Amino acid sequence: MQSPVERLIRPQIWEMEGYVPVEPLEALAKRHGISLDRIIKLDANENPYGCSIRVQEALASFDRYQIYPDPFHEQARALLEKYTGMSRDRIMVGSGSDELIDLIVRLFVGPDDEIINCPPSFGMYYYSANVAGARVVDVQRDEKFALDLRGIQGAISERTKLIFLASPNNPTGNSVEPAEVVELLKHNLVVVVDEAYYEFAGRTLVPLVGEFDNLIVLRTFSKWAGLAGLRVGYGVFPPEVIKQLWKIKQPYNVNVAAQLAVEASLDDLERLQTTVQWIRKERGRLFRQLRKINYLEPYPSQANFILCKVLRGEALQVMRELEKNGIFIRYYNTPLLSQYIRISVGKPEDTDALVKTLLRTANSL
Ligand SMILES: *Cc1c(COP(=O)(O)O)cnc(C)c1O
Repeated sequence: MQSPVERLIRPQIWEMEGYVPVEPLEALAKRHGISLDRIIKLDANENPYGCSIRVQEALASFDRYQIYPDPFHEQARALLEKYTGMSRDRIMVGSGSDELIDLIVRLFVGPDDEIINCPPSFGMYYYSANVAGARVVDVQRDEKFALDLRGIQGAISERTKLIFLASPNNPTGNSVEPAEVVELLKHNLVVVVDEAYYEFAGRTLVPLVGEFDNLIVLRTFSKWAGLAGLRVGYGVFPPEVIKQLWKIKQPYNVNVAAQLAVEASLDDLERLQTTVQWIRKERGRLFRQLRKINYLEPYPSQANFILCKVLRGEALQVMRELEKNGIFIRYYNTPLLSQYIRISVGKPEDTDALVKTLLRTANSL
């Protein structure tokens, strides 16, 4: 039974399930009785090398935090113009790319409109569409997690507004084929390519945004630049779309610290790109090690994580064994991924500790 005040709540919200985020570090440590610095956190694709030291210096020495942030992010957009090769007029910064996903959904989608989602993929597309009252049409990926292009084309209807494609995809690690995106762009809908892991892959569809008025590319500083805690992402948009988006963006969406952090990070590119190289190298080593674990089947990845199918025992059990040893990975309590785990690429010593525990776990599965 709903109380009177509950009956005032939109039914769509009442019926939906909330987003389940990863457990905060402090809570993890407390629940397992482990000190913070002994935790090996491989559950959220964060950067084990942290952010640029110049970010910490810039934030410590800044002395105008009492002033509201620049609503137009001029400085950050000027630097992003150089970084992306696209005009700053096409670039908007958000409080994480999560905010931009939400803004895009709100710009295009009303109740009873449809978005196409290609699971398994990033949960925020589904979540934001749900909050907006949209219908999410799922077109599942094939057994190798490639897109089902024919299925997608068959699912496009009069009411379809958006399709979200993460590339590389989270949690599967594979990228979308540019030709597939071009094919979808021929339809009357907006294609959003989410390149949250672009720096680990090296391939981008950003230049194509200059050629199509229905393509959006999103990126973030959370993963490669180690700024997940400061919340800052950006998008490259067609002019007609960004013009309308500016109207609905909250003026002070990106705080001063986040804007300073973008500037300091892009000022320290060489160092950041070095850590990206380390992670890419470690990804290769982690993959080869995981392949030797006889109950795991790792999938090739172009991002900073590796999805593994658990071939014997339960994925939940593997996660629990790792947890006991202070190693935290991503487990999915969903039908599509109940037999999978996702492991973020850490430092070499993290890989070593992980593999040691995985080998020991083999006996108990
Ligand atoms: C982590 C992630 C994001 C979230 O980025 P934020 O900028 O931290 O909001 C977006 N898309 C995908 C696919 C991700 O994995």
